[in-house]
Amino acid sequence: MAAPLLPPTTLPPFAQRAWGGAFASGEWQDWRWQLAHRLTSVRAILDLLGDDFRVAPDVRAAMERAGAASEVSVTPCYLALARPDDPRDPILPQVLPDPAELDAAEQGSGVPDPFREEELEIAKGVVNRYPDRALFLLTNFCSTLCRHCMRRREWEGGFTRLSDAEIDAAVAAIAARPAIRDVLLSGGDPLNLPPSYVGKVVRALRERCDLDLLRLGSRVPVTLPMRIDDELLRELAPAAPLWLNTHFNHAREVTAEAAAALRRLAAAGVVVSNQGVLLRGINDGESDQLDLSRALLRAGVRAYYLHHCDPVQGVRHLRVGLARGIELIGSLQGKVSGLAIPRLTVDLPGGGGKVQADGPQLRERRGDTFVYSSPLCGERVAVDGSEGSFGGAGSWRVGVAAAGPL
Ligand code: SF4
Repeated sequence: MAAPLLPPTTLPPFAQRAWGGAFASGEWQDWRWQLAHRLTSVRAILDLLGDDFRVAPDVRAAMERAGAASEVSVTPCYLALARPDDPRDPILPQVLPDPAELDAAEQGSGVPDPFREEELEIAKGVVNRYPDRALFLLTNFCSTLCRHCMRRREWEGGFTRLSDAEIDAAVAAIAARPAIRDVLLSGGDPLNLPPSYVGKVVRALRERCDLDLLRLGSRVPVTLPMRIDDELLRELAPAAPLWLNTHFNHAREVTAEAAAALRRLAAAGVVVSNQGVLLRGINDGESDQLDLSRALLRAGVRAYYLHHCDPVQGVRHLRVGLARGIELIGSLQGKVSGLAIPRLTVDLPGGGGKVQADGPQLRERRGDTFVYSSPLCGERVAVDGSEGSFGGAGSWRVGVAAAGPL
């Protein structure tokens, strides 16, 4: 049976205790209130969850150490989707630092910038990896920071956005390369920026660059759906047609509020597709993927990519083995419309480009090592397709078990 959309009036007990008043008064629906009430430390999140989420003191201390080593942030409306008593809760492991993030082997198993984005910059914030495409990184800020983020390196040093002069230089650099036909605005999350700022950027790109495709990469429909309001849509309208790649990882995230935001985007002519990440213990079951695909179909969103977890420092424990990922996507065939089956993709290390995990670029497999030919240079690139070597999502629960009854 298809997973139901979460009724908009449902708050779990911990959220009711903390935010019941704001929910009843309607403040909850104000994206500014949501941003102002983000939780930005492990301690703040765990204190708020209270006895609904019990971890052993040593595990809690390890989580706080992991949180202190990088940024933490979650909006109330996203955290309220968590069900702390669910052993496979898919929300908390996406926002709560896992002690495994600090493990020495984990640290040594990835790199901060596996795709050499910083080397491929043609102007501040503009990465030109594919001849016809540019990635335009406007900010390093996201209202909710995902533990599996491929740009965790950007969280250091405070949150910022490009200045007017930097935007001008970036648009000029794109306009000077007529081979660029496709621009993806990303970050961080561009839709967390002021609407007038976003409007100015998309209008400048449309006016000064000859583009076939203008895309936004944003998790706002998932983590801050009330942000998709009339003010923002008015700013985006002059740049139509726009495409939006969003990032739902689990059916639990396709709430009534998210579905309403997606309907508003569709009504404004924005084409929305989903790019999830395959995450160990979060969405690596066949039913997880089927439920997500069906929920997205009902919300009018096409499943586009499911990303193999990138080899980023601090993320390895969330990685599903590549062979398992291929098997999982294969298992969906015949069970749901092709519109709802994403392509499993691997971003080749070193900036070799994106390939379909089981597509024609797969040349060889030796155990957990998968060898692909790069779509950019034709060279063969080996990918470590092994599973994360730690507890996976929510390894704190292992800590709870080890510590015995609390
Ligand atoms: S929304 Fe995207 S860019 Fe922001 S933290 Fe999550 S994965 Fe990273």
